[in-house]
Amino acid sequence: MALKRKILLIIIDGQPWRAARRLNGNLEGWVQSGAARVWKMRCVLPSISASCYASIHTGVPPQVHGVVSNAAISRLSQADIFGQVKAAGGKTGAVTHSFWSEFFNRAPWDAVRDIEYDDPDGPISHGRFHTMTGADGYNHTTPSDEDLFATLTMLTERFGIDYGIYHSCTLDSMGHRVGHDCAAMDHANAKMDVALAHFLPRWLEAGYEVAVTADHGQTERGHHGGREDAQQDVAFYWFGGGDGPGEDVVLDQLALAPTLLGRIGAEVPGSMKAAAFLSRD
Ligand SMILES: [Zn+2]
Repeated sequence: MALKRKILLIIIDGQPWRAARRLNGNLEGWVQSGAARVWKMRCVLPSISASCYASIHTGVPPQVHGVVSNAAISRLSQADIFGQVKAAGGKTGAVTHSFWSEFFNRAPWDAVRDIEYDDPDGPISHGRFHTMTGADGYNHTTPSDEDLFATLTMLTERFGIDYGIYHSCTLDSMGHRVGHDCAAMDHANAKMDVALAHFLPRWLEAGYEVAVTADHGQTERGHHGGREDAQQDVAFYWFGGGDGPGEDVVLDQLALAPTLLGRIGAEVPGSMKAAAFLSRD
């Protein structure tokens, strides 16, 4: 079965819906010009990072995959986007926090073995990871987003990946430290938007459909994990085709995986119960 399309999924960790719509000047400009569409998406509960990563990629809730905290990290047994794209004959890539490697490639994490790898047989064909080991209130230990975007672009151009994911904790770490109601956070959001804007046209030019979203939101005090619009609601920007729902429909985060698999042209496994929100053609 030949794949129909190639897709990049960009996950801006911890960017809430309201911050995205207010501060992503480039992304909003593309929406305004008609080049992109945007919907509100509601994340799973708990609205904890690891729980959301696992649900984004497997399409099942934390109550099924079992990732109930950032301490519950293991190789997941559920089918996920990487495995389905590989099974359909595609090449995958990841430039993310190491949790994604442990969930979907191999665990436990071995820094020397796993920090950078190229394995045509792995669920993740080409991985470039970072751990943020040593992060604290003074030092976020987050890589430069420009560097990470460049690395993802390298994977698209050097290896021709069919599906690639980008994930960075820059805004989440900032938000935990300073909260969202401050000039520093406005500035950080704008910097992320600009970094992304430097690379996004190049991906579109190369024929990728691109989704930009967040794993969860964050409150004005810099918290997430619970049940609240500020903690759960994120933006889902879509640079691609397909018929979608009305602009006021709130998307289910569990529908992200089956939607992207449908667009790529890979099989949607039976474990992904949510209906796709974009047509396959
Ligand atoms: Zn997060």
